[in-house]
Parts: sequence; structure tokens; C-alpha cells
Amino acid sequence: MPISRPEQPVFRFAPSPNGLLHLGHALSAILNHDMAAAMGGRFLLRIEDIDRTRCRPEFEAAIFGDLAWLGLDWEEPVRRQSEHLGVYAAALERLKAMGLVYPAVMTRGEIRAAVAAAEAKGQAWPRDPDGTPLYPGRERGFTPDEQAALLASGRSYAWRLDMGEAVRCAGGPLTWRETGLSQSGEAASIVADPAAWGDVILSRSDAPSSYHLSVVVDDALQGITHVVRGRDLYHATSVHRLLQRLLDLPQPVYHHHRLVLGPDGRKLSKSDSDTGIAAFRAAGHRPADVRAMVLGER
Ligand code: GLU
Repeated sequence: MPISRPEQPVFRFAPSPNGLLHLGHALSAILNHDMAAAMGGRFLLRIEDIDRTRCRPEFEAAIFGDLAWLGLDWEEPVRRQSEHLGVYAAALERLKAMGLVYPAVMTRGEIRAAVAAAEAKGQAWPRDPDGTPLYPGRERGFTPDEQAALLASGRSYAWRLDMGEAVRCAGGPLTWRETGLSQSGEAASIVADPAAWGDVILSRSDAPSSYHLSVVVDDALQGITHVVRGRDLYHATSVHRLLQRLLDLPQPVYHHHRLVLGPDGRKLSKSDSDTGIAAFRAAGHRPADVRAMVLGER
């Protein structure tokens, strides 16, 4: 991988090959590419294929095909997360050594039942910015012996961040620089609120790293200076800033762009083939049409 000059901006587009790219991905990729070009920076492509149950080689091939068709070019070699699991495992070990993670075994069904029981008693249960109930944290504070017994029990488990401890350990307010909120691209300082996410998952017995952990490790390793991505990941940035602080990683500037909405006004989904880049290609549209469509130039 070419070494950047210290001041050279580095951008990345980081899709997961678990479906076909849609117009929202086209917008992300084009913005990253164009902003890098405008700033004399580098444009990297990263394949986020940690979740082996959902990622497929044919979707990865389609990503390369669609991006090339859009006229974008990126540096080789492309980083594939599945080829770097040891790096994420090392970051998790570091957080374990700091006493900030714990093994958690409650299933989705058990969590739902715990939340329903609390709500039946009139207790409001907190939800994360995506609307998912926070983890009850039953195993938080287990002794080392209790943890060892849990891990030896053969149940599937996840390593979860002890959010309360992690926020304490971060020791002071966390902010990030955001350039995606104003038309002019002026930077605003945003206060991060990682606690809103509760005890997030950092790895599972069946998936060696989570999105949150691998994204911050990779952004640092690849020297990413500017993270440009959709607003659906705006609130996740709070968790990323916390992990960056805990792991002593540099912080990029963030630019969360508007989402491209479907004809029904809802967020696009990879399973909706009508708004896939491939569908526009097949229908005879030109790359310039897609570019104009997502940038709102037409
Ligand atoms: N892999 C994530 C996705 O496809 C994007 C990660 C990021 O840009 O931070 O939604």
C-alpha cells in the first residue's frame, strides 16, 4: 500500500458484500471518490466481510463491477476484513486487559422477555438510537470464576463492552468534527453519546469481530483522515469515538451525507432490486445518469 504524505487526505468506501449496491452506496462511493480527488487525496476501497454468514463472493464481485462501471478507481490491494481477524482480536484483548468487556450469553429471545417483563411492571426500558432495547447486562460484574464457568458452558456468547466502565475510563467528554450537517461543509463539533448504545457487542463466538471494532481499527491502520458515509451511521460515530479514545487511535473527520430514499420515501435496502446500481445498468442508464440522480443534479 502506498505510504501517504502525513498531510495527504485519505478517504475510503467500505461496503459489506451482503447484497447488491444501491443508489445510496453509489452516492457514498462517488462523494468519497470526488472529495479525495478535490483534495488531492487517496481513495481506498475496503470490503467489510466480517459476517461470513451473510457475505458472498458474488456480491463482492458485483461491488467491483458496479464501482468500475460508475467510473471510480481505487487503490490496490483492497483490504478485506476477513483477512485481518488477528488485528481485531488483538484490539479486543487490549480491552479485555483493561477490564472493559465481559462475556454475555443472553439470546435475543431472552432479552425480549426481560424487556417485556420490565415494561409489564411499568418500567420504561431504554432503547438505542436504532430503536433496539439496550442489553440488560446480566453478566456485567461477574467474577473471573463466574466468567470462566460461563465460557466453559458451551453456550454461544458475545463479548460486550461494559459501557459504564468504558465511558468512565475514557475520562472526559468525547466529540467529533462533522462536516456533513451544513450545505457549505463547515465543520461542527458534535458531542458523542456512546452510553445511548448500552453494552454494544464487540465480537461473538461465531463472528470474530463486530462492525464497531473492526471499523475503528481499520480506519486507524489505513490512515483514514475523512470518513464519508450515510447518515444512518451518524449515531454509531459515538461508539467509534469511544473506542478510538480507549485504543489510542487517531480520529478522522466525519461527513455523514443525506440518505437516498426510495420512491416510498423510505431508506433503500439491498434486498430491493429496483434501486440497485445493477438494475440501472441493465435498464440502459449511463453512469452519468446515476451520478446526476444521486447528487441531485437532475
Ligand atoms: N460496512 C458498512 C456498511 O456497509 C459501512 C461502514 C462505514 O462506512 O463506516 O454499511
